[in-house]
Amino acid sequence: MSNDRPEPILFIDGQWRNAIGGGTRDIINPADGSVVAVVDEAGADDALAAVAAAKKAFDDPAWRATPIAERAAICDRIADFLERDRDEIARIETLDTGKTLKESHIDIDDVVSVFRFYANLGAVEADRLVDVGDPTIVSRVVREPIGVCVLIAPWNYPLLQIVWKIAPALVAGCTMVCKPSEVTPLSTIKLVRLIEEAGAPAGVVNLIQGSGAAVGDALTDNPDVDMISFTGGAPTGTRIAKVAAPHVSRVALELGGKNPHIVFADADWDAAVDAVVTGVFLHSGQVCSSGTRLIVEDSIADDFVAAVSGRAQRIRFGDGLDPASETGPLVSQSHRDKVESYVALGISEGATLVTGGERPTDEQFADGSYFPPTIFDHCNREMRLVQEETFGPILTVERFTTEAEAIALGNDTSFGLAAGVRTANTARAERVARALRHGTVWVNDFGVYTAAAEWGGFGKSGNGRELGPTGLAEYQETKHIWTNTAPKEVGWFTA
Ligand code: NAD
Repeated sequence: MSNDRPEPILFIDGQWRNAIGGGTRDIINPADGSVVAVVDEAGADDALAAVAAAKKAFDDPAWRATPIAERAAICDRIADFLERDRDEIARIETLDTGKTLKESHIDIDDVVSVFRFYANLGAVEADRLVDVGDPTIVSRVVREPIGVCVLIAPWNYPLLQIVWKIAPALVAGCTMVCKPSEVTPLSTIKLVRLIEEAGAPAGVVNLIQGSGAAVGDALTDNPDVDMISFTGGAPTGTRIAKVAAPHVSRVALELGGKNPHIVFADADWDAAVDAVVTGVFLHSGQVCSSGTRLIVEDSIADDFVAAVSGRAQRIRFGDGLDPASETGPLVSQSHRDKVESYVALGISEGATLVTGGERPTDEQFADGSYFPPTIFDHCNREMRLVQEETFGPILTVERFTTEAEAIALGNDTSFGLAAGVRTANTARAERVARALRHGTVWVNDFGVYTAAAEWGGFGKSGNGRELGPTGLAEYQETKHIWTNTAPKEVGWFTA
């Protein structure tokens, strides 16, 4: 902790403030361990004030009465400002997370597309008329904002994950309190400055910083909160669902994944090798939809694993600001310790370490939290290494001989976020895609998505959907208005 009084970065009711309790937190660059910023660490008082500001803004009819076209225009302006400040934001995201500048730029392009998608979708939202078979009745279903939302994001895609929530919540007409991960708050601070510049009224978007322990319960165990949208780990998500339950706040959860990448022998070889390598080692495996379980047809398995391993060994990891780096460090030393513990576990469970597994010893990596691409062959479904989310650059290999076996392995997870299937046989691709119990299935592709299509998990990967039209509906209440244009006595009680 530093004693410096930081620039105020809590945004409550249209004012930038320091934390009431004066707490601060050092933000560390994972590439070299340096302190890149000192930020406020909020406490429960700050969090309660932020929820109160969001409630006041929601209860003021002015915001809710704003035409949807105006809310959409705010989103469009935010997108314009993100494009204007693209390089500055990418640098912030890289310093904070360790990801390469190229990835940070891609994240910004994604969030621009998300703001634009919801701006357009909001503008075409219409009431639904219901024909009840009586011309004197007008039955109408209207969508209204759900109310005060708490939006909680993880550290791996700080800007992207919070925008998947903010953009639809804004267009829907909600008010909100945003809480980025305490490890990676910087890009969200910048984003909220842009939202202010775009003209969102005071209290509509509020920003709180701090750990879950410091501010979590004030934000989630709170009767004034109508909806909590959380992206992060399953233990945190289920805890939030429990504390929110007595208030009947709606809770949307985007949790972890343990994602199978199934490769049949007839798949295009080069594309499959490339996709498996990219699918698991991009962002050093710190991706919820990382293709961390290779499930490969036995007849090609030895050669395929050798090819993937060869490519993995040539991945250049390093400082994300260095254009030569293809992937960056892990987000923190403590996260690297966790990933390393899974390597030890894999060895103790009897998996065969093919490559990686040890932190680099070169001088240039001494102060960063680097970890090399790591592959374990001869894994099986009983291993914890295969079942638990390592959230690092670790690929496990399982083998199959029949299509049914591939599907069974692919579904043998308590998660269900995303899966990949690679085959030249289109009928088989369709059969397998439909049989897999995952929220997204990529056929002969991996890791791609679009703002217009829903994202979310089956099973313990979550319970809501972000992106697409459903991503907007998550922030809306549905109200049925029944209007009798020719009222008369119904004659039920006759006395
Ligand atoms: P985490 O659960 O530790 O933290 C997520 C957020 O919750 C952080 O902002 C944290 O401060 C906050 N938090 C912690 N305790 C809280 C509490 N009691 N009340 C309220 N908030 C609390 O997760 P993480 O380590 O930041 O992120 C990694 C996890 O996120 C992985 O499991 C990954 O799979 C998941 N993830 C999922 C998706 C998806 O789309 N499904 C996307 C990205 C990341």
